[in-house]
Amino acid sequence: MTLSRTFQRIAPIVAALLALSCVSGARFSPGSSGVGDPLYPGLGNGGYEVSHYTVSLDVDVDRNFISGSTGIQANAKKGLSSFNLDLRGLTITAISVNGLPATYTRDGNELTIVPSRPVPARASFQVDVAYEGQPSPDHVPSFGFPVGWIKYRTGIYAAGEPWGSSTWYPVNEHPSDKASYTLVLTVPEPYEVAGIGELTGVIDNGDSTTYTWEARDELASYLVGVAISRFDEIVVEGPQGVPILNMIQETIEEPVERHLENTSKMVGFFNDTFGPYPFESFGSIILDAPFAALETQTRPIYGFDILRLAGERVVAHELAHQWFGNLVTPATWEDMWLNEGFATYAEWLWLDYKSPNDEFAAFWENTWRPDYGPPGKPSPEAPFGQTVYQRGAMTLHALRTDIGDDAFFRTLREYVLRHAGGNVSTSDFVAVAEEVSGKNLDGLFRAWLYDDVTPSAPE
Ligand SMILES: [Zn+2]
Repeated sequence: MTLSRTFQRIAPIVAALLALSCVSGARFSPGSSGVGDPLYPGLGNGGYEVSHYTVSLDVDVDRNFISGSTGIQANAKKGLSSFNLDLRGLTITAISVNGLPATYTRDGNELTIVPSRPVPARASFQVDVAYEGQPSPDHVPSFGFPVGWIKYRTGIYAAGEPWGSSTWYPVNEHPSDKASYTLVLTVPEPYEVAGIGELTGVIDNGDSTTYTWEARDELASYLVGVAISRFDEIVVEGPQGVPILNMIQETIEEPVERHLENTSKMVGFFNDTFGPYPFESFGSIILDAPFAALETQTRPIYGFDILRLAGERVVAHELAHQWFGNLVTPATWEDMWLNEGFATYAEWLWLDYKSPNDEFAAFWENTWRPDYGPPGKPSPEAPFGQTVYQRGAMTLHALRTDIGDDAFFRTLREYVLRHAGGNVSTSDFVAVAEEVSGKNLDGLFRAWLYDDVTPSAPE
């Protein structure tokens, strides 16, 4: 009796609350402003996944000024009343969602877009952002170079790792959201544009040229790269018909070819070792710029100095990343050893293949140190510290020594095959290694990836 009278009194309030939640809460809500990465929780955004970016920019190279738009095709993972993109600096001139003008706010690197009509769950939607400005590169702890869109003496390049792509286009900037790309850059004469994927268009506009580069295989935003300068091109046919396109900045006077002459053989060796080369083409962009190297998808970018110093070893490293990092991509920045440990170990595999001379003994002698720190738990202050490279590579050699060559190389191939195109965590690799070898490898991985002190060399 009492209950029912109470219910009668509150019924209209309950109904009103339910109606309200249908409009604002249950069906549509804001997408989150970060994906909760363990190292960098604010990177990326939640509530949707991007399938394709079309970045169309006019570039005034001398002023280092860009203007144009980025179109983003995305899929809503839930009903979205608003959603975020990442964009550093630059001035927005217009935003539309599904062709209708949208409102937006900016707070630091977060761009929050409120569509005029909320986006229903599971709907695909199109966002167009028009913008202009002079991009400012950003800095990352333990990185020797600024990241993002960089103007240098004889050109411009853009290299994204880990969060530099948002310096020149709005993006869901986290490796867990991979997408395909169309890059359309218009540059004044006499400049040319080198990019990733395939060059599908060159339009002569008189005093400027428009280059279209298509990256059809999905990639993480940190693997997007372009360079604007003037280039000599060398095309080589690689194994299984994979074309290798090397674009070398014209102002480099020293011969570059000797560092690249084994590229085709390397592709062949890694094909046999890791599985078929995963993309349409390979090659390199070599710049007369103060930069190290980045494994931008299909066409790594190098500063010439690193090639001069490290030679083809760095080419082997960036090529190996096409499997480890690019095709099979860490789900979070904490699992960077899955990139760098594998690419570093691949350098040793290549050197050992080329001239078998006990390279692995030298590797241990030259690189073992007790105090690298755990590669499975890099610190946000040194995400790309030596531990993910050197101790990461040692972890693989310790695994190889424990389970034997046959199980080790079958593990690498099975891991690539099973996770091709996707995102991975350390546990995914451990699971494949345990399955293939039939051994419990908990102790080995715990010691090598998480102990503070580097274990000693395996016998
Ligand atoms: Zn690397």
